[in-house]
Amino acid sequence: MITHEEIKKEVHIWAEKIKVKPMQVHIRQMKNKWASCSSRGRVTLNKDIMKEPKKFLKQVIVHELLHLKYPNHGKMFKALIKAYLK
Ligand SMILES: [Zn+2]
Repeated sequence: MITHEEIKKEVHIWAEKIKVKPMQVHIRQMKNKWASCSSRGRVTLNKDIMKEPKKFLKQVIVHELLHLKYPNHGKMFKALIKAYLK
């Protein structure tokens, strides 16, 4: 089980690497997705992620934080995901 604290820590580590500044990080129950981010920099993570492996958490965090730079899943977005998660 991953704790809230670990999730927030992981978000901060990756935010520094990716050079983004999420304004707020929320962890709550979500219905159909693992995470979302708003254009204003609020990142929300599904509470259920606490039961998933840490590797998966990392994937989700990197994906959402990259959206603070690139709103779509374009070439650049995909290239960076690959680079960060290699
Ligand atoms: Zn996405």
